[in-house]
Amino acid sequence: MKWTQTLIPTLREAPSDAEIVSHKLLLRAGLIRKLAGGVYTFLPLGLRALRKVEQIIREEMDRAGAIEVLMPALQPPEIWEASGRAETASNVLFKVKDSSGRQWFLSPTAEEVITTLAANEINSYRQLPKNFYQISLKFRDEIRPRFGLMRAKEFIMKDAYSFDTTDENAMAAYKKMYDAYTRIFARCGLKAFPVEADTGVIGGNYSHEFMVPAETGENEVAFCEACGYAANIEKATSGIPKTAAREIGPAIEKFATPGVVTIEALSKEPYKVPANRQIKTLVYIADSKPIIILIRGDDQLNETKLMAKTGAVAVRPATEGEIFILLGAKPGSLGAVNMNFEHWGNIASDVRQNMLDLRKTHKWDVVKIIADERLQGANDMTTGANDDGFHFKNVSIERDIKVTAWFDLRTVTAGEPCVKCAKPLKIRRAIEVGHVFKLGTKYSEALNATFLDETGARKHSVMGCYGIGVTRTLQAIIEQGNDKDGVIWPLSVAPYQVCITPLGIAPESETMKLAEKIYAELTAKGVDVILDDRDERPGVKFKDSELVGFPIRLGIGEKSLAKGEVELKPRNGALQSVKIEEAVDAVLKLLAAGNVG
Ligand code: ATP
Ligand code: MG
Repeated sequence: MKWTQTLIPTLREAPSDAEIVSHKLLLRAGLIRKLAGGVYTFLPLGLRALRKVEQIIREEMDRAGAIEVLMPALQPPEIWEASGRAETASNVLFKVKDSSGRQWFLSPTAEEVITTLAANEINSYRQLPKNFYQISLKFRDEIRPRFGLMRAKEFIMKDAYSFDTTDENAMAAYKKMYDAYTRIFARCGLKAFPVEADTGVIGGNYSHEFMVPAETGENEVAFCEACGYAANIEKATSGIPKTAAREIGPAIEKFATPGVVTIEALSKEPYKVPANRQIKTLVYIADSKPIIILIRGDDQLNETKLMAKTGAVAVRPATEGEIFILLGAKPGSLGAVNMNFEHWGNIASDVRQNMLDLRKTHKWDVVKIIADERLQGANDMTTGANDDGFHFKNVSIERDIKVTAWFDLRTVTAGEPCVKCAKPLKIRRAIEVGHVFKLGTKYSEALNATFLDETGARKHSVMGCYGIGVTRTLQAIIEQGNDKDGVIWPLSVAPYQVCITPLGIAPESETMKLAEKIYAELTAKGVDVILDDRDERPGVKFKDSELVGFPIRLGIGEKSLAKGEVELKPRNGALQSVKIEEAVDAVLKLLAAGNVG
């Protein structure tokens, strides 16, 4: 390719809305352009790199026995209603209407489509196992698209779906994908590692995410360097001990705490109740039902765990008004001891009656109290009295509170003992580039994907699903590989591997003649080469070539030519002079060694 023939609009400065380095470089290196927030055009070089990532994915999926299909982006809502996700995934669904008024969803993923296909096309155990994959545009109505391709409204995903006869076979299919992902990210030059993950609205019971460590990542991962345990913070647990039981008095005691509305304030003079002896009472609305959550004063509630443990699809903190209807108190003095209005002496009886009525109309009479397991057996605790300006002490959680269920609800923090080996956990930020799920029969039951087994019995296929954010992966490669001058591509995905940079470009000049000759030879050898035939100053050409990040630059100037040499500059290494006649071999050698990127 000749530089002047293609379009590489490099920029000295990134537009101000690009916040992270990979987003800036995608724009500065002329790889993508923004059309609207979260919607991008791939320019020729960006597309070349993207196609290489896709090709690696294709090869590894094929190698793992998956078969490529292409499913429609327009999906009928009926199949989403059948799976229940028309409602549960409603917030990310792009909904469009055709001219007859019929509604369609733009594909954010394709479990429903592939399961419908399997329901129609697969009938016998003899046709299984199958693993279908596609690489296609996906659409998600992200509320906050940001960081360029990282969180876009429209992006390319590789999604795969496995169908098996038994749970055991489904597990084997999962393992195959897990291994394929490990190979894919390694071939893309990415340091990605698998972590245990929450399954979210997709359902299922077993899942890993593939994470690329990066300060700008939107995920947090807890990991143990000693034993290799790693989990998304949304899912991670630790071996932290439960709250120690102590000797306490026979009954709870109410005491005045005027103006105290925080854990911290109660831990100070004159009360001096340490945070770890306080019970924090939170009120949430989970799928429109209120729920009271108890967690230790020094712990943080993990909302993803809350959803996973209660099965709720949407959770949010209750408003002050809702809390008052439920507990007759303002945040700051809340508690789950005595959830009974009789004890709230200073609420006027008509207000009380009004609240009881409101509870009835909301159907909020029965409120579940769930508590974090770390509080199990805890006594000598202090908690709000549902009476503004008062708290209870001497609280024994099991004696004084009617806990409906105990769950692990807290977020682990750095330094806690690893759940597997007790060594201290670390936490770091990361980018989720891939996700594998064991789905079980959730979709095959909802959409009736069955097969006849050896004995003639009809069974539901056991499914798995496996996604890779292809465009996000591309950006993660840049987020991981860059320096102050620009992108540092791994050889495997660089838009071009070699950039030939003649410093004089007149057609009859020695520099240009040699450049054309080497270009032709390398191209004939199957090397991806670009020839910078622009009439620009050397400084501009070198800067652009570093910015775009071609793994090898081959400079041809009059000075070195006079010595019978050209200059070879690996993007990540030192400049070296090579004899003209050895130039092509030297490039091939560098490429074969593979460590130029
Ligand atoms: P996230 O938690 O980042 O929103 P997700 O868990 O909803 O992602 P999945 O449904 O697991 O995403 O999709 C598979 C992969 O698609 C993800 O691992 C991620 O790499 C990619 N992906 C998801 N949403 C986006 C997006 N809005 N823009 C770009 N890539 C995305
Ligand atoms: Mg995910």
